[in-house]
Amino acid sequence: MKPSVLVVNCGSSSLKLALFDERENKLASALAERLGTQDAFARIAGDSETIALPAGANHQQALQTLISTLRERELMPDEPVSIGHRVVHGGETFREAVIIDNHVVEAIKDCAGLAPLHNPVNLSGIEATRALFPDVPQIAVFDTAYHQTLAPRAYLYALPESYYRNWHVRRYGFHGISHFFMANETARRLGKTLETTSIISAHLGNGCSITAIRDGLSVDTSMGLTPLEGLIMGTRSGDIDPGLFDYLGTCGIPEREVYNVLNHRSGLLGISGKTNDMRTLCDLADNGHEPSALAIEIFCFRLAKYVGAMMASLHRLDALVFTGGIGENSSRVRSKTLSHLGLLGFDIDAGLNGHHGRLSDGRIDKADSRFPVLVIPTNEELVIAREAARLAAHC
Ligand code: ADP
Repeated sequence: MKPSVLVVNCGSSSLKLALFDERENKLASALAERLGTQDAFARIAGDSETIALPAGANHQQALQTLISTLRERELMPDEPVSIGHRVVHGGETFREAVIIDNHVVEAIKDCAGLAPLHNPVNLSGIEATRALFPDVPQIAVFDTAYHQTLAPRAYLYALPESYYRNWHVRRYGFHGISHFFMANETARRLGKTLETTSIISAHLGNGCSITAIRDGLSVDTSMGLTPLEGLIMGTRSGDIDPGLFDYLGTCGIPEREVYNVLNHRSGLLGISGKTNDMRTLCDLADNGHEPSALAIEIFCFRLAKYVGAMMASLHRLDALVFTGGIGENSSRVRSKTLSHLGLLGFDIDAGLNGHHGRLSDGRIDKADSRFPVLVIPTNEELVIAREAARLAAHC
């Protein structure tokens, strides 16, 4: 049997599968999108033809279809040796990845109130693969777990302590799988061990967060109780004055609507009035669309402020690292952000930045920059596959 690890990532309306061999080569990947709608479809990566899914197909149906297609095409001839699932919220219960059993399933259900859009679909992926592969160990890897090393000064809000005690209100942080990958990969590239590496990791995709990592551990992060806090994002506002709810209430806008707007119609989309997509925004700004230029300006200024804030948790900075679709590809965002931070001594090379660090093992800083600056593509699937292989070895 060829040992392979299957990675399952169920988003609110999407499903991604990836299959790795024991040398960490990706053997196949597949995805399904628009699940729960009339336009649900699936596709094997590298294949132009889409696979029909029944209208309104859910995650379980998509998963069964994709697994049988991978088998038919002999892309997955044998059962995987383990299956790793991305699970968004592990609350305070899960500080690391775990082998899934019925207790773990119940505990993930218990955390669903904190991530109502994500944990239930993560669980449906787990149930589907447990039914399809009853003898294969299944591992849950949590997006919140890496941030469980935050100290109370970083995770507690300045609220009545009963809110934390009774209702678990605290900062949890997200994108932990990506930030953990960045810490390991930066350490490797700088020739250091994880335990001696201290960085600031900026994950800038549709969702954006920044994390201070001290000696390999997450010590502060910008997302909070939910993934709404912190940086400006594609459609999310990031930090906002909570007094907004009361004020807009007096203007006749119900709380639920404000919350929905903060999540889905704010951020880059809200400011520009056009799009949540940074690439399109840059094109619009270049063509004189001022609200788009302003959206980029505000995005970078907020990010720069957070880089400064993350310094408060570090005793040394080995590198500032950028990742995610924007972090990896937008030289404009990187240079605009760092232009606000001259006082801290960041200095990047325009040529290396323009090539997104691809000519220099990620480095984009000038020789006399006070701190290294790197661009590193994230690889969350690989972290999940590694954790799944590591824990399955104990089964
Ligand atoms: P997700 O969080 O959904 O995984 P991604 O990490 O793929 O998102 O990031 C998507 C964002 O990356 C979008 O705003 C997109 O415009 C941006 N992006 C991708 N390529 C570029 C580019 N060349 N220049 C600027 N932004 C880019």
